[in-house]
Amino acid sequence: ERQRLGKLRRLPAVTTDGELVELQANLEIPAELPLIAQAGAQGIGLLRSEFLFMNREDLPDEDDQFAAYAPIVAAMNGDPITIRVLDWGGEKDMQALAAGIESQHAGPNPALGLRGIRMLLKRPELLEEQFAAILRVAAQAPEGAVRVMLPMVTVPEEVKAAREIYERVAKRVRRRGEKLPEKLPELGAMIETPGAALAADAIALEADFFAIGTNDLAMYTLAVDRGEADVAHLYDPLHPAVLRLMQFATEAALRLRMPVSVCGEMAGNPRLVPLLLGLGIRCLSMNASAIPRVKQAVRALDIGDCARFARRVMEQSDPARIRELVDGFATGVT
Ligand code: PEP
Ligand code: MG
Repeated sequence: ERQRLGKLRRLPAVTTDGELVELQANLEIPAELPLIAQAGAQGIGLLRSEFLFMNREDLPDEDDQFAAYAPIVAAMNGDPITIRVLDWGGEKDMQALAAGIESQHAGPNPALGLRGIRMLLKRPELLEEQFAAILRVAAQAPEGAVRVMLPMVTVPEEVKAAREIYERVAKRVRRRGEKLPEKLPELGAMIETPGAALAADAIALEADFFAIGTNDLAMYTLAVDRGEADVAHLYDPLHPAVLRLMQFATEAALRLRMPVSVCGEMAGNPRLVPLLLGLGIRCLSMNASAIPRVKQAVRALDIGDCARFARRVMEQSDPARIRELVDGFATGVT
């Protein structure tokens, strides 16, 4: 089995009818880099930058951040890397920031409070340093290889406001004499709240790409905390509400020919690949360890079958029935 999966590494993630699917890795800490190469990932679809801010009592400055990204960009050898700016808040506790922010802003419900892009727009100096570091590191990769992504977006204005800061930072860094890419790296939005999913057509006008974060999307849609054992049984990414939101957001992107990926846990589950491909998704980012099995699933699928299957699933309104359909289809494939 191990050997078979090892051989898979060199084979493309292509369906039986010749459709290429991009399989990328999520990176949480730099120590995972060797795993990414081993797994045969085509780049990093979600670089969670929170590690930069963890286990320290002061904030990393622009140079610290640049120094942390540079070896990752070098190791990826020109493969695409999507760097997500800091997603602080919710369950993500960070000492260095907590001192400055939590005391002022700890609300009754952190998951619904100053999280992700909301916090960064409230503290634009944090966003500016991150953008500056990312822009500098992007200059060390081939044009277009590095992309920048905003977490926890709920309204188009957040992307617009972030882009204004982004362009201003680029000008300033360039004036400072730093080498920057000719064309600014693409700036995308995570679709991980029901509000963002249902306003995806409006957000698409401001963003260069979408990444659907199914972990938070399921949590916020079903009002189930990801870390709460008592309600864990209600956490179900196959709930029709979650799937309908994913479908709406995906179709908004596809209409505009805008890149869209899925980067939550769902993307790493081979049994869910037929449904995701059927919905029109062609880029999945997951834990590196999941890539071989997902690739195996992709290579056994036909896009037409997946599309028909997804249509059947999307006609259902009962979560249990959806699970039955998904399990039934998967038994034939994985
Ligand atoms: C998600 O919410 O699905 C996601 C990919 O982001 P994170 O898990 O880092 O919140
Ligand atoms: Mg998230």
